[in-house]
Amino acid sequence: MIAKNLKSVRQRIARCCENLGRSPEEISLVCVTKEASVDDVNEVLGLGARDLGENRVQELAAKHKAIGDKAAWHLVGHLQTNKVRDAVKIASLIHSVDSVKLASQIDKEAAKLNKVQDILIQVNTSAETTKFGVSPDEVFDLLKEVALYHNINIEGLMTIAPEVDDPQLARPYFRALSELQNKINSIRNTRYPILSMGMSNDFEVAIEEGSTMVRIGRAIFGDRL
Ligand SMILES: *Cc1c(COP(=O)(O)O)cnc(C)c1O
Repeated sequence: MIAKNLKSVRQRIARCCENLGRSPEEISLVCVTKEASVDDVNEVLGLGARDLGENRVQELAAKHKAIGDKAAWHLVGHLQTNKVRDAVKIASLIHSVDSVKLASQIDKEAAKLNKVQDILIQVNTSAETTKFGVSPDEVFDLLKEVALYHNINIEGLMTIAPEVDDPQLARPYFRALSELQNKINSIRNTRYPILSMGMSNDFEVAIEEGSTMVRIGRAIFGDRL
């Protein structure tokens, strides 16, 4: 089942890119394993997957312990400051930085490990109060502050679109993130290459709007809830 699902997701990404004249290599596929067993995860690794995502540090640590560094680990969910140490030890990319306080903690822990931690700024493009992330207005100030930290490297932006039945309804939120990235890249000398957006229900729309990294769980591992 997983092999078939993964193949289908990869084909959908490729087809979508083909329609857009984009190269499928521009899109990183992060397999989100929060509903997957260690066996499931080993199966996708055997099929050539490399980027794995977890939304909780505890799960990230458990899976990392079982599987190790043959995968690149992504923390895609909210990060509390008291969990930063464990996250920094493991994660190659933290998708969810949304405050100076969190960034400063990441910088501190990364410095202890002699590591430069790659991060994304999470933007709450839909202004839902239930969602983490900075508002688009706050991004510039946060970037300015975070850029001062020596042990953090900003790679780009991340957003989670609202859950909607029709993926087309997620488009404005993806477009908002894409436009924000263009604005940042035109103002600053630095170019932030990554736009992490798109999940099982909406990844094609996200790719159409410029996503370079999709985070997919259920479409690969099935809906187990
Ligand atoms: C669970 C999760 C995903 C994957 O969602 P699916 O709908 O299972 O594809 C992506 N991003 C974040 C932040 C998540 O928590």
